[in-house]
Amino acid sequence: MATLIASSDSVQRVNLLGMSRAQMEAFFLDLGEKRFRAEQVMKWIHHQGVCDFEQMSNLGKGLRQKLATLAEVRPPEVESQHDSSDGTRKWLVRIGGGGLVETVLIPDGNRATLCVSSQVGCSLDCSFCSTGKQGFQRDLSAAEIIGQVWLAIDSYDAFQSGKGRVVTNVVMMGMGEPLLNFDNVVSAMDLMMDDLAYGISKRRVTLSTSGVVPALDRLSEVSEASLAISLHAPNDTLRNELVPINRRYPIAELLASARRYIDAQSDTKRVVTVEYTLMAGVNDQPAQARELAELLKDFPCKINLIPFNPFPNSGYERPSGNAVSRFWQVLVDAGFIVTVRTTRGDDIDAACGQLVGEVVDRTRRSARHRERRGVDQAVLEVSP
Ligand code: SAH
Ligand code: SF4
Repeated sequence: MATLIASSDSVQRVNLLGMSRAQMEAFFLDLGEKRFRAEQVMKWIHHQGVCDFEQMSNLGKGLRQKLATLAEVRPPEVESQHDSSDGTRKWLVRIGGGGLVETVLIPDGNRATLCVSSQVGCSLDCSFCSTGKQGFQRDLSAAEIIGQVWLAIDSYDAFQSGKGRVVTNVVMMGMGEPLLNFDNVVSAMDLMMDDLAYGISKRRVTLSTSGVVPALDRLSEVSEASLAISLHAPNDTLRNELVPINRRYPIAELLASARRYIDAQSDTKRVVTVEYTLMAGVNDQPAQARELAELLKDFPCKINLIPFNPFPNSGYERPSGNAVSRFWQVLVDAGFIVTVRTTRGDDIDAACGQLVGEVVDRTRRSARHRERRGVDQAVLEVSP
């Protein structure tokens, strides 16, 4: 018979950092403790940034010792930190088992948006995304996801100094497809919105998906976070090429599922953010803007245009400022609310899609699209 006795060093301690309120309460009840201990410990971890049970002064000595043998509060390790001249801060975060993910904080007036990763790599292989080119390595645990919020706040000494809210918004737009790491992402988003943790309003926590329709339908049953969908094309032919999951769940199914998601929310004023990464000569033509306006004419949304962020060997190019303005104008004239994402943290490779690692295939996709359509390259390269 195998022995069940392990030395205290080899016992796997449970990491309390990623536990939602319900999980933390169950944990303390299992220990024979009162439910309110969950509230006390969550406040120490997420409001005060305390990881050492000895410092949790409103817990009795016996409980502190019990926790120290059974549990731990372990944020992910920061491999390196990079500060951009525009105030953007990026962390490379070391994930147990060897991988690296990125977390980026983008300050903007009195807001600051944290872009959080959900997986190491991604299996969905969108043609213009450097994360997709790395393939999938593994899901992050709930502790590794919420740990990115924890370490961003810690990095500004904001837990101790009471400097106010360093993180006002969170977007699940870093590495990975959040709906393919469903349970951990939902637990972490619960903590982002829970007053015992970060207390961010549900309108300011946004999940971005490339369109995993069955998981999106499940999300509407368990979450009230805001929703962004990565569309990037006005028709299935082009989207099949850019976002391969479209072959399983085409545009009509994705839009119907996104609509069900916002219809299920108690807050009736919700809209979906439609993300559209603009790539020169691929999906940035005025005719495509008109097609997009037609596609979305009855869909409750605002549109966020993201000029493509280049990375080595992507094969795509960022459109000129003129091309972006023309595309924007068509949508505005059609009555949409349209924002253009300004590139932030360019000098530290912190912009969307410029994530860890270099890609080796050289496909010249922008050029191939132009050749296919016979568009004059000079026209596309006029600067603003
Ligand atoms: N997997 C999710 C969330 C992470 S990607 C999703 O696809 O929605 C976050 C956003 O960045 C997506 O809209 C994605 O399409 C976009 N993106 C990826 N690579 C990019 C690049 N190189 N330039 C601009 N946007 C990019
Ligand atoms: Fe994955 Fe999103 Fe990148 Fe597509 S765009 S490969 S879904 S991270």
